[in-house]
Amino acid sequence: MDFQEIINRIYNEVKPMTVYGKIADYIPALQQVSSGHLGISIQTLDKKSYCKGDCNIPFSIQSISKVFGLTLAYSKLGSKLWDRMGKEPSGTSFNSLVQLEHEQGIPRNPFINAGALVVSDIILSHCNDPYSELIDFVREVCNDPNVNYNDSVAASEKETGDRNYALAYFMKSYGNIKNPVEDVLSFYFKQCSIEMDCRNLARSFLYLVNHGTNPFIGKNILNASQTKRISALMITSGMYNEAGDFAYRVGLPGKSGVGGGIVAFIPQKLSIAVWSPALNMSGNSLAGIEVLERFTSYTGDSVF
Ligand code: GLN
Repeated sequence: MDFQEIINRIYNEVKPMTVYGKIADYIPALQQVSSGHLGISIQTLDKKSYCKGDCNIPFSIQSISKVFGLTLAYSKLGSKLWDRMGKEPSGTSFNSLVQLEHEQGIPRNPFINAGALVVSDIILSHCNDPYSELIDFVREVCNDPNVNYNDSVAASEKETGDRNYALAYFMKSYGNIKNPVEDVLSFYFKQCSIEMDCRNLARSFLYLVNHGTNPFIGKNILNASQTKRISALMITSGMYNEAGDFAYRVGLPGKSGVGGGIVAFIPQKLSIAVWSPALNMSGNSLAGIEVLERFTSYTGDSVF
């Protein structure tokens, strides 16, 4: 299969759609990015890479970072993690508060903001130097020592992050946040501010493609069973209230971020990262989903 030819074709078809949708404006720093970008990168487990469009421009990975946070917390705590959050799709937007009261401060899953805040809290409690440990982990999985946090994006989100503060305080009132809310939020915003380009992003998910082992350095991060569980959660909850539609259209485990990135993968084969900043109503990249749907349709390949 000629992946380059396939992504060239998809790029030409989808590029005109990048004018639709809306850039996230609730984080002021994200508004500085212009819409119209489209980058696609495929990375195969046998170390071939294919790129088209804006795949060398770094962008804010935002909620995609929740997979890295979850991996770190899961590797430290194992299944005890699930005492503090669920594994069910939420059916609500990523920053919704409504279920938390009914469910006594236990978030539905680790990918909605409430769940990711609990994961941040766990990382703070279990790592001596959480900021370095997380970024070192991310640098290792994407095989690029230059990947970093963006301090001004983190600061910008902090200024307008009232809803995330509300989620964290609410969970603290139920005892499901152990560290000071301020510390948890600072870490969470910093995690979300990590910047990568599509090439980095596709590479960084190869450990999930490869049953939990980082293929660049042969380091085991998660076992095969843990990898299966994180991948399954990406299918059921990685795209929030659009997870069902994404599974139907794309048929791959995927994770999105409000910076306009989406990463998805086929176990044992490849990962694919797409970036286009304008979002649909669910906060997922509009053109990004179009690319991924075409990719699995044209190749006839998915997890099903
Ligand atoms: N940092 C963002 C927030 O908390 C992440 C949301 C996202 O990418 N869906 O709102």
